[in-house]
Amino acid sequence: MIYVHVPFCETFCTYCGFYSELCGAGKAEAYAKAVCKEIHDRAEEFDDSLRTLYFGGGTPSKLPVKQLTEILLALESVGHGGPYAEFTMEVNPEDIVVLGPSYLESLKLLGVDRISIGVQSFNDDMLRWMNRRHNAARAEEAFRMVREAGFANVSLDLMFGMSNLEDSVWEETVDKALALKPEHISCYQLSIEDDTPLADMIQSGKYAPMEDEKCWKQYYTLCSKADEAGYSHYEISNFALPGFESVHNSGYWQRIPYVGLGPSAHSYLGNRRSWNSSVISGYRATSEELSPEDIRVENIMLSLRTARGIDASYLFKNCSESVIDSLVGEGALVRQGGRFRIPESRFFVSDEIIRELI
Ligand code: SF4
Repeated sequence: MIYVHVPFCETFCTYCGFYSELCGAGKAEAYAKAVCKEIHDRAEEFDDSLRTLYFGGGTPSKLPVKQLTEILLALESVGHGGPYAEFTMEVNPEDIVVLGPSYLESLKLLGVDRISIGVQSFNDDMLRWMNRRHNAARAEEAFRMVREAGFANVSLDLMFGMSNLEDSVWEETVDKALALKPEHISCYQLSIEDDTPLADMIQSGKYAPMEDEKCWKQYYTLCSKADEAGYSHYEISNFALPGFESVHNSGYWQRIPYVGLGPSAHSYLGNRRSWNSSVISGYRATSEELSPEDIRVENIMLSLRTARGIDASYLFKNCSESVIDSLVGEGALVRQGGRFRIPESRFFVSDEIIRELI
C-alpha cells in the first residue's frame, strides 16, 4: 500500500489541523522532486502484499498533472507502478469544475480508478462557515463531471457535529448525498484540533462544541438513511454499496504495511512506524519500533472500528475475560461466529468500549 501526501491547499478550512501550504510558484516542482527522490531512496521498503495507491492531502487536485505523472513514473521505475488494486485521488469540487473534463481524462489515463470528493456539506452557509472553496451547486456539478468522465467508484466526504448545523440542514445534506448514489460515503464528526481557527474561536468564546447527544443524533440519522439506501456501514465512519468498501483504507484497519510518501506522511512497515517532517522538500523521517503492547492496543482499536470486528480467540488472549463478558452482557460487543464486533448501535461510543477492553 502506498500513500502520497500532497501538502497543498488554496484556502484553509476552519477546522483543519493537517499540514498543508499554499501551492505557490516552484513548490509543486520542488515537492515532486522530493517525493521522487524519496521513492528511489526507499525502493527497498515497498511491500507488495496489497497494491493500492492513495493520493491524499492537503488537496491532491492542486498537484499539476505533470508532477503527478513524474511521481507515478518514479514508482514505475522502482517496480511499483500500476495497475493497482485501487488507485484513489482525493479532489476538491472547485478544482474539478475549474480544471474541467480534460483534467479528469488525464486522471483516468494515469490509472486513477477511484475519486474521493471533499464535499463536507450541501449547504452554502455551512460551507462558508467551514471556509470551503466550493458551494453546494459546485459540489453537485463536480460529482456530475466525475461521473461523465466515466468514474464508477466515487466517494463523498461529509461532516457533521458542528453546533451551528441544524438537524434539518444535516438531513438535507444526507438526502442530497444519497440521491447522487455515490458508491462510498466517508463521514466524520467535527473534531477540535489545536492551532486551528476553530480552536481560536472556542478560546475567544465565538464557538461552543455541539453536545454529544446531538452529535449522536446526527450520526444515526446518516446511519439509518444510508442503511435504507442499501449502504453497508463497514467501518465507524465509512459506508459503501456492496463491493465498494475502500480497499486501501481497509488495509489500514487490518494493519497491512504501507509506505507513506511526502511531507508529514506516516509509514508502517515491519512493526516500525515512521513519519516525515512537515516541510515541502528536504523532509526527514523519524521512526519508532512498536512494542508488543502497542501492537496489541492497535489491533484491538483498529479491528473494532470495523463491522468485521476482531478474532474472538485474539480478544480472549489479549483482554480480560470478565470485561469481555460484561460488555457482551450489556450489548456493547456482539459475538458472531469466531469474531466479536461492536454493533452499529454502539459505534458512536466505540472509543469508550475499546478503552474498557484495553
Ligand atoms: S480540510 Fe482539506 S482542503 Fe481544508 S485545509 Fe485541510 S487539507 Fe486543506
